[in-house]
Amino acid sequence: MVAEIIAVGSELLSPYRTDTNSLELTERLMELGIRVNGKCVVGDNDEDIARAIRAAAARAQIIVITGGLGPTNDDKTREGIAKALKLNLVFREDIHTWIKERYKQLTKQDPPDNLARMAFVPEGAEILENTVGTAPGLWLEAKEGYLYIIALPGPPSEWRPMFERVREKLAQFGSHVFSHRILRIAGLRESQVEDKISQFYTGVKNPQVTILASPEDVQIHIWARAREREEADRLADEMKKKFLEVLKENVYTDKDEPLEKVVGDLLREKGKTLAVAESCSGGLLANRITNIPGSSDYFLMGAVTYSNEAKVKVLGVKKKDIEAHGAVSEPVAAQMAEGIRRVAGSDFGIGITGIAGPGGGTPEKPVGLVYIGISWEGGTEVKRFRFPGTRLQVKMYTTSSALDMLRRKLI
Ligand code: AMP
Ligand code: MG
Repeated sequence: MVAEIIAVGSELLSPYRTDTNSLELTERLMELGIRVNGKCVVGDNDEDIARAIRAAAARAQIIVITGGLGPTNDDKTREGIAKALKLNLVFREDIHTWIKERYKQLTKQDPPDNLARMAFVPEGAEILENTVGTAPGLWLEAKEGYLYIIALPGPPSEWRPMFERVREKLAQFGSHVFSHRILRIAGLRESQVEDKISQFYTGVKNPQVTILASPEDVQIHIWARAREREEADRLADEMKKKFLEVLKENVYTDKDEPLEKVVGDLLREKGKTLAVAESCSGGLLANRITNIPGSSDYFLMGAVTYSNEAKVKVLGVKKKDIEAHGAVSEPVAAQMAEGIRRVAGSDFGIGITGIAGPGGGTPEKPVGLVYIGISWEGGTEVKRFRFPGTRLQVKMYTTSSALDMLRRKLI
């Protein structure tokens, strides 16, 4: 059986709220072996909801709807389902009583009249109890068992526990189990990864392999499908092993954890400390490092030395080198790394200087040019990079490259 997801909510059609429910639901359905072959977002309008349900029913046997189950007039999912399937909405006294009791329990106040709206359900629907809020969910079997509609409330805190109650029922529809593996890669571009691994998966339908690139890293997602868990695991792991053999140390994790976590663990394991001096990345590197709980074990300090004066005063970068080579240069990155290491008394120092753009570029020093220095007891190394993209993307590329340089020193 295949599923479609409908996210109901006019706010989800604006640029201010994103439908994340469908992403989470897709993952859960896939775990149960149910393929999601489409999804859509519709506003709080019963006609639109009904149209979306009819369209989905033409392609899928399971339709999961989130949102629009509340008590207010703009919550139209019940009406939408009834319209789509030509069912009556029937008032259920037992549900009304339950909702009122629940409301009193939760708020210690008298229930308002509009709660009664939630007691109108499409005829034949089963109620899914809401253990967190008041809006009940719905489970509806239609078309003589050829269509199942599951309607869940919008707030994740409410639908997640409700989903656990339907998990068993849904599992009977799943014909396959999926095994998912993720490899995260630093230090290679998407095309370089593709070149190395395409020999293994071109033309292969199972497992499915996807390469996802972002300024943070390159990820390989492997999805294997089988009737039994062991078989799906075996297929996924076989493909993963081939990839690891050619990608080697470029893979920084197979556990879906961020680079800053992997580097932090390495620093802790080796008993080493770190300090960073940032110019164009504006503190993003220190931010990423300190997003990891326990980073105080190895991270001593970060300095955002944005002006030339700050680089000289705080880090001891030589003024004459800035004058001779410019602030974005190899010697300045090296002296920033050495300077912060000395000031902090750390084992490793990282120095970053570059042009994040969009202005400030010249033919010799274009936007995206970044020098990253790393200083340790064995010496100082500087690498020159040229990153594409917007200001924020350049900052992200820069910090990932800095973390990766350090990682390679630690492994
Ligand atoms: P509703 O059940 O439509 O009243 O939704 C209540 C709240 O749930 C909304 O204000 C959102 O904060 C959240 N919500 C609804 N739909 C989604 C969705 N598709 N993804 C993420 N959050 C959602
Ligand atoms: Mg809503």
